Amino acid sequence: MAIVTAKDFDFHFPDWLHAPEVTDEERKKIQASGLAEPYVIFGKEGMCNPTEFCFFCGEKLTLPMVMWHGSNHSEIWLHPNCVRPFCNRMMRDFNQLAIGKDEANAILKKQKADGG
Ligand SMILES: [Zn+2]
Repeated sequence: MAIVTAKDFDFHFPDWLHAPEVTDEERKKIQASGLAEPYVIFGKEGMCNPTEFCFFCGEKLTLPMVMWHGSNHSEIWLHPNCVRPFCNRMMRDFNQLAIGKDEANAILKKQKADGG
């Protein structure tokens, strides 16, 4: 899970590039090899690309956002305020299996009344 803010879309340089144990000569060799290219994690050129709309409410996403990715690297993107109600509804389904539908619905009803 990640909380994604505007700075997460910036290009970054590898942290080790400016480590004191890397000599200037080594640094030049690394840079010449292309291994020290700036990179982004989030955004069009990165590993994770936000969707335009929130997975839970369907409204347009704005920063900050919350991102989760699963074992198959699929991603869900949410407004921070949508995380709690989304998780409550997932727990409702779990609770239905664990304690029954009526009690699961009663718990969710109370959570909704409490803002989630
Ligand atoms: Zn949302």
